[in-house]
Amino acid sequence: MPPSSNAARRGRVLVVDDQPANIVVAHQILREHHDVFMATGGEQALAFCRSTPPDLLLLDVEMPGINGMDVCQQLKQDPNTQDIPVIFVTGHQSQQDEVACWEAGAADFVSKPVTPITLLNRVNAHLTLKFQADQLRVLAYRDGLTGIANRRKFDERLEKAWRHCQRGGSTLALIMSDVDYFKKYNDNCGHSSGDECLRQVASAIQKQMCRPYDLAARYGGEEFVCLLPETTLAGAVTVAIKIDAAVREMHIAHPASDVDACVTLSQGVAVIDPADGEDGEHLLRLADDQLYLAKRTGRGRVCSM
Ligand code: GH3
Ligand code: MG
Ligand code: MG
Repeated sequence: MPPSSNAARRGRVLVVDDQPANIVVAHQILREHHDVFMATGGEQALAFCRSTPPDLLLLDVEMPGINGMDVCQQLKQDPNTQDIPVIFVTGHQSQQDEVACWEAGAADFVSKPVTPITLLNRVNAHLTLKFQADQLRVLAYRDGLTGIANRRKFDERLEKAWRHCQRGGSTLALIMSDVDYFKKYNDNCGHSSGDECLRQVASAIQKQMCRPYDLAARYGGEEFVCLLPETTLAGAVTVAIKIDAAVREMHIAHPASDVDACVTLSQGVAVIDPADGEDGEHLLRLADDQLYLAKRTGRGRVCSM
């Protein structure tokens, strides 16, 4: 194999084909440069992508059961897998088939039988793009101080979660959490201790996100939000109580607080039913109202509508 002109760093490539012989060929071409995983059917491929998302998929079009087009479409509909580039490996040559590949969300396609150097270069080119896009997403969607999602990410996810819950006929819950007397904390302990406190609080909140679509984000300053799709008010209150306990259990000393000797949160919890026409803005207002109530009635507590 001649060295590739556009070698990417080592990627995780999932090869999906119902014919094991085709997988062996792809494996031989790619294994020197990338970690190759295999699936012999659509179901297996989807399960793999959901549990351990690869960096790229080489996907056979014709398979019994869920075919390649369906696999690709399902990956593109799921926020957790939509950024995985899919290269179709197809025996079809017609324009109509090509159009169908693009419409399913393909990044590219190669024809069978594959030319080894072409396959390797295509894979490398798309992996390079994927790694660059990953880096940009980290910069664009992650909060620089705490490492959790930022407000931009939250705003985008709120929109998607709202549509998801509307389709599924479920409720969408939100927790808004604000550090108590944080200005005093900074004044007392110094701004860099304040930064470290925010990192610890963010990490404690993040650890309470148990489902794949739950999202914790820094909303601004010392304020955090948790978006919980398909969750009832009671379920969200349970999560808020766990967050409250997790933050208290860290025992971050806060001598200037009137609530406790350690850092505490005030939290507001709200829920909407998108089917009732209530939008994300409304959900934010409802949670903010409850947060305000928690502040007014003594801080260090959870209030819910
Ligand atoms: P309350 O209990 O009513 O929430 O009082 P508070 O002091 O927490 O609220 P206030 O809004 O008065 O003050 C928020 C403080 O958070 C002021 C600001 O300097 C601090 N802050 C915001 N972002 C950061 C940050 O990134 N790092 C640090 N160290 N402090 C921050
Ligand atoms: Mg505060
Ligand atoms: Mg605040």
